[in-house]
Amino acid sequence: MNKYIPFNKPFVCGRELTYMAEALKGAKLSGGGYFSDKCKELLDQHFDFSDCILTPSCTSALELAALTLDIQKGDEVILPSYTFVSTANAFILRGATLKFADSMPERPHMDPRSIESLITSKTKVVVVVHYAGIACNMEEIMALCQKNNISLIEDAAPALGGHYKGKPLGSFGKMAAFSFHETKNIGCGEGGLLVINDKSLIKKAEIISEKGTDKAAFLRGETSKYSWKAIGGSYKLSEISAAFLLAQLENLKVINQKRLDLWNQYNELLQPWAQKGAFEIPPIPSFSSNNAHSFYLICNNGDQRNALIDHLLKNNVLAVFHYLSLHKSPFCKDAYQDVHLPQSDRFSDALVRLPLFYELTSKEVDYIAGLIGQFYTSHLK
Ligand SMILES: *Cc1c(COP(=O)(O)O)cnc(C)c1O
Repeated sequence: MNKYIPFNKPFVCGRELTYMAEALKGAKLSGGGYFSDKCKELLDQHFDFSDCILTPSCTSALELAALTLDIQKGDEVILPSYTFVSTANAFILRGATLKFADSMPERPHMDPRSIESLITSKTKVVVVVHYAGIACNMEEIMALCQKNNISLIEDAAPALGGHYKGKPLGSFGKMAAFSFHETKNIGCGEGGLLVINDKSLIKKAEIISEKGTDKAAFLRGETSKYSWKAIGGSYKLSEISAAFLLAQLENLKVINQKRLDLWNQYNELLQPWAQKGAFEIPPIPSFSSNNAHSFYLICNNGDQRNALIDHLLKNNVLAVFHYLSLHKSPFCKDAYQDVHLPQSDRFSDALVRLPLFYELTSKEVDYIAGLIGQFYTSHLK
């Protein structure tokens, strides 16, 4: 039998260890040093993210965004139900009321029609989630936000290297949050990034990220002392993590290309089964690039999905389901009993993600696709 194939595996692909050793020899290990600056330079070169803050996680980048927007109790925030809890926590921590939108019928991304139906005079923010690194329908969603004077935030956690009509994801919202968690394409264990596209928010976000002080301006020599200016938190990435991250960012193209090759191989091997109705492989919309963050199938129902996961596990392959509708979570369900989001529920029940990581081999993809074929040979009669 094949050796165990995990769903994800952290990896080292370049100068990670060299850079970490250099960081340890340097004069500074806290955030905002040489390696953080180098990471920001590269992010700016690749994506034009000139104003950004490296954070300890995407979760904290989203919290920083909610603080910077000055979200207050009673403000309404529209977000998908089919997302990670961090998209919601950042805003509920500020006292916002969450309005959950449904996914589109054909893919897990938020449906602009569902967003429109939730807009009220209290709507302050729409948070889009570029699921699996694939773009949302940005033009429709941006038009809704502009028309109704709503701030757009991108939860672009898995979307580094993704584009909408040639423009990088993360450059559409007032702010955008990315993740460098080990499960994303580029990582440093735990890490994140807040991109600030609205120039009027840069100073404010910087102060909040520095415990509510103007220490960053002080360190640049812009003031002779620094003091407490606003509420804030500790939102900087350590230099050790930034050193690791820099080595991965230097290999962004290589990493994403390798993932894309594996993604294309899965797609080629499994499309014939999708044609036969075994499952759906949601097509990549023509407006979106594919950063190959995730290869996922939509099974015909939850039982079949769970049986497929069991079959793979019995053969030493870990495939995993994904989000569970937030409006049905133990934390939310009492308050959202009257909310029905059938598409979000369908993806909660029937979506399965296959192993996809830098060190996965083409032979292993063959093996996994073969197991899936074996499963459906006996399940499709
Ligand atoms: C991974 C992920 C997060 C959380 O990222 P962390 O860096 O672990 O905080 C948030 N939102 C989405 C959509 C994600 O995929």
